[in-house]
Amino acid sequence: MSSKLAKELEVAIQAVKRAAVVCRSIQSSISDDVMEKKDKSPVTVADFASQAVICKALMEQFPSDPVIGEEDSKELQTEDSKPFVERILREISQIGIEGSAGDLFEWIDRGNAKDHSERFWTLDPIDGTKGFLRGEQYAVALALIIDGEVELALLGCPNLKLDEETTGVIQYAIKGEGSFQIPLDSDEPPQQLKISSVENASEARFCESVESGHSSHSLSAKVAETLGITKEPIRLDSQAKYAVVGRGDADIYMRLPTRPGYREKIWDHAGGVLIVQEAGGIVSDIEGKPLEFNHGFELVNNAGILAANPKFYPGVLQALKEHDPRKKQ
Ligand code: AMP
Ligand code: MG
Repeated sequence: MSSKLAKELEVAIQAVKRAAVVCRSIQSSISDDVMEKKDKSPVTVADFASQAVICKALMEQFPSDPVIGEEDSKELQTEDSKPFVERILREISQIGIEGSAGDLFEWIDRGNAKDHSERFWTLDPIDGTKGFLRGEQYAVALALIIDGEVELALLGCPNLKLDEETTGVIQYAIKGEGSFQIPLDSDEPPQQLKISSVENASEARFCESVESGHSSHSLSAKVAETLGITKEPIRLDSQAKYAVVGRGDADIYMRLPTRPGYREKIWDHAGGVLIVQEAGGIVSDIEGKPLEFNHGFELVNNAGILAANPKFYPGVLQALKEHDPRKKQ
C-alpha cells in the first residue's frame, strides 16, 4: 500500500481488531441476570481492556504520540477494584497480552492526555456503552489527528453486519484516500464505501441515538416532518450511525443537543466523521460549522452533529435552523 499513513493504518487495524475481539467475548458473557440488575461491570471491564490493548500497541509503535482516550486508571487503583483488575488482566491474556496490574495502569494511562497537540490519537474504547449492555451496537473508535485535521479514522463495530452472512465490520478512512470496510474476523479485500445517492424525501432514512438523552428525538421528528421524510428513524447506539451513513444504508445522521452547555467529546466523533466525509458525505455541527478538533478533548465551538449525503445536507440544515429551540424565547 502506498498510503502516507500505511504503517499507522496497519497498526491501528490490528489494535482495533484485537480490542474488538476482547469486547465481543466480554459482551457474550453478559447474562440476563447481569442485565436485570443493571450491573455495569461488564462494560467497565471491556472499556478498560479495550483501552489497554489499543494504547499498548500505539505506545510500542508510535512512542511519541499522545492519546486522548476516554478512560484513565484512577478508579481501578483502589482496594475494591482488585477483582476488576484481575478480570481485565484475564480478558486480555486471552489474546496473548500478559502483564501486571502496574502494566495495565500504564497502558490505560497512556490514553489520558487531555490537551491538543500537533499529532495525537483519540480513542473511545467502547463507544455506545448502553448498546453494549443491551447486547446491541457499540464501536471501538480510533482516530489520528494531525494539525487539527482527522487524517486517519477507524471504527470497529462487532455487531454490525457486513452482509447477510457476516457480522462484525471494521471501517477505516485516510484523508484524501477514501473510506473502506473489511470483515472483523477474516482477511478479505477492502470494499470502498460510498454515501447514498437518495434524493427523494419519501425514500430517505435518518439515524439517531437510541438514547433520547443524547439526542432530541422530538426535534429530529419535526425536522423530518418539514422535509417530508416518512420512514421511521433508524435508532442505534454509538458511531455505528456514521458507519451506516458512510456506506449508504442511511442518508442522514442527526445528533441534536438535549441540554445547553453539553460539549461533544472528540472521541465520540473523530472516527466516524472522516469515514462519512471520505465516502462523499458532509459533516458539520447543527449550525453548519465545521467540527474543530484542535481544542483538546471537547468540540468546544460546536453544538450537535449533522452528517448527510450532499443532496439532503442543505435541506436538513435549513430545517434545523427553522426548528432550533435555542433560537426561540
Ligand atoms: P450514542 O450511542 O449515540 O447515544 O452516544 C453515546 C455517547 O453519548 C457517549 O459516548 C457519551 O460520551 C455521549 N453523551 C453523554 N451524554 C450526552 C449528552 N447529554 N448529549 C450528547 N451526547 C452525550
Ligand atoms: Mg462514546
